[in-house]
Amino acid sequence: MALKLAVFGNPIAHSMSPLIHQHFAKLHGHEISYERLLVEGSFKEAADAFFSSGGLGCNITVPCKIEAYEFAHELTDRARIAKAVNTLKRIQSEDGKERYIGDNTDGFGFYSDLLRLNAPLQQAKVLVIGAGGAARGILPSLMSKEAALSELTLVNRTVSKASQLLQGLDEVLLDRSEAKCRACTFDDLLPDDHYDVIINSTSLSVSKELPKIPDSIYTHAAFAYDLYYTKTGSTVFTDKASSLGVKACFDGLGMLVGQATLSYELWAGVRPDIGATLDYLRSELG
Ligand code: NDP
Repeated sequence: MALKLAVFGNPIAHSMSPLIHQHFAKLHGHEISYERLLVEGSFKEAADAFFSSGGLGCNITVPCKIEAYEFAHELTDRARIAKAVNTLKRIQSEDGKERYIGDNTDGFGFYSDLLRLNAPLQQAKVLVIGAGGAARGILPSLMSKEAALSELTLVNRTVSKASQLLQGLDEVLLDRSEAKCRACTFDDLLPDDHYDVIINSTSLSVSKELPKIPDSIYTHAAFAYDLYYTKTGSTVFTDKASSLGVKACFDGLGMLVGQATLSYELWAGVRPDIGATLDYLRSELG
């Protein structure tokens, strides 16, 4: 029988998740159904209806990730740290009751993409721009012992959000590296500052705007990554970085596919290859 899957959110018509998961299923010879479900009222009501009609699992996107977090009976460490759930799976407990496991695969998607792209993280000075929901997902991996950064700077228009985010993560992360972490405003960034890796996690690229950082910050960097993604693989941010000499510039499509591979593994028991699906997606988007 086909695995019944879906993605919930509002808006949802633009979601590429059905395309990605159908491609995973094709690669592995699985039969799945994967719908986009628009949530106009309560997420809980929508999710109850889906699971009671045989749903096995779902992805959750903006603005329902917090409600999905509250909906889950059990949380993975990743979801607990992110305080948000983007993947749910229905299981049956020993007493026969339905239970829901909540996971958050965004951070994994981001980090696995950086590894795939050979981002120079070890002992690097990294600048993360933006401290919204996506930053919350990606920071734990950057602050981990495995990434082994030497410094992490989090710059945000609203600096209090950046400070709270770093402080909150400091309290819950178990494998925190020795990296020096600081939060700052755009005005605190100086032309002489040197970062090896710059990551744009603001939503500015959506409206084709650039974060207000000195040009010299791009000039010094070796690797630039924008969480936003486009058909062509370039964004205003990656274009700017590339024009100022950054050799390795990437958009966030690999992160999107990476987070989906982990969701798929939770439901179907196998983790699909990121590269094969990325090629397919770019050709579909183009
Ligand atoms: P949020 O709305 O949670 O956060 C937006 C961030 O952008 C905040 O830090 C905000 O600063 C900053 N920002 C917005 N407008 C401005 C501005 N005019 N000047 C300076 N800073 C600004 O969004 P998300 O974190 O959920 O998403 C951010 C980006 O990441 C989006 O482009 C999204 O598409 C992408 N994304 C990609 C994913 C992928 O799989 N590739 C997954 C998730 C997100 P402030 O706090 O001051 O408001």
